[in-house]
Amino acid sequence: MNVYADNAATTRVSRTALRAMLPYFDEMYGNPSSLHSVGQRAAEALYEAREKIAACIGAEPREIYFTSGGTESDNQAIMSAVEAGRRKNKRHIISTAIEHHAVMNTLKKLERQGFEVTLLDVPENGIITPEAVAEAIRPDTALVTVMYANNEIGTIQPIAEIGAICRERGVIFHSDAVQAAGHIEINVVRDNVDMLSISSHKFHGPKGVGALYVRRSVPLTRLIEGGEQERNRRPGTENVPGIMGMAAALYEACENMNVVAPKIMAMRDRLIEGLSKIPHSILNGDAKRRLPGNVNFCFEGVEGESIVLLLDEYGIQASSGSACASGSLDPSHVLIAIGRPHEIAHGSLRLTLSEENTQEEVDYILEKVLQVVEHLRNMSPVWRDLVEGKREYVIQ
Ligand SMILES: *Cc1c(COP(=O)(O)O)cnc(C)c1O
Repeated sequence: MNVYADNAATTRVSRTALRAMLPYFDEMYGNPSSLHSVGQRAAEALYEAREKIAACIGAEPREIYFTSGGTESDNQAIMSAVEAGRRKNKRHIISTAIEHHAVMNTLKKLERQGFEVTLLDVPENGIITPEAVAEAIRPDTALVTVMYANNEIGTIQPIAEIGAICRERGVIFHSDAVQAAGHIEINVVRDNVDMLSISSHKFHGPKGVGALYVRRSVPLTRLIEGGEQERNRRPGTENVPGIMGMAAALYEACENMNVVAPKIMAMRDRLIEGLSKIPHSILNGDAKRRLPGNVNFCFEGVEGESIVLLLDEYGIQASSGSACASGSLDPSHVLIAIGRPHEIAHGSLRLTLSEENTQEEVDYILEKVLQVVEHLRNMSPVWRDLVEGKREYVIQ
């Protein structure tokens, strides 16, 4: 059996998205900036894609800018808010300790340039409070950036409440919604967001394409110089096939969400219930306020990487921490932020489901994780010390 359970890292391109893309590689290969009919057909397609994406998140078509993905959208949103702040001598930014590296490393760069960054502490349940944001806002705060849902532990933040506070205090509010879009309902008006990042490959669209929503009254600045595409805010010939695939994928995901999400949640909860039975294991992140497909556990006395490699031998693709952090020996900054000690954070396993998974696959995952954890613990000197009482369990 082969079971792909790493949908937070990336997803398979859906049939709908693939079909939507294909014509734009051959018959309709025009450049949307060309005046002739071939170009104009591509320009019309682009407009339709903009309308579809806007409709999915409650925006207007002209508030959608196409980018190369979540990373670029996050960078452009942050740099634009900072530029607007600089003009008013505002040099303070608020974010959280569990952001994706696309946000985190952009903020680190800004810190080196003299900006002051407040990273809000995150409670053990992985959800910050709107009050914490309210308390951190200062007269010189230029931007609040809080992710919609976390890519490792799946927790969903109170975005609408945070947005309301920022709106009232006149601070620009950006949200990295890369994990949320197409999985839970987003409405930029209800949520009071000024800027919002999405990425196609996290909802069964192609890789290398994303979008940034920017509210009409919010200034957006260019990251790179070039032509006048995207209303002069994002130069470069548009990735027309990719954009068509992204729009089709997001539209399909949003249309089917009410039917698909409960099914994925049922599989998620079955996995959580089963894995909770493993002794000295703990669920990371709130049990209910989390993405429909996200399961993340720590197992004491084992290395997450070893679990992932052994599961792969059984045909199960999972992750330990995030794809970006794996390969490095540092434990996940998200698990550290919610208070897991280093040695526990190293024993993490993330399983992320999509509508393509089945109940049988969930049962297979449960069987194999139980087997693999037991096997690894039997070989672990740390585990032997714990069992023999030479060391105390951290996870009870
Ligand atoms: C994947 C991801 C990104 C980066 O998106 P890319 O399109 O891969 O650049 C940013 N933020 C979050 C929360 C993500 O999960």
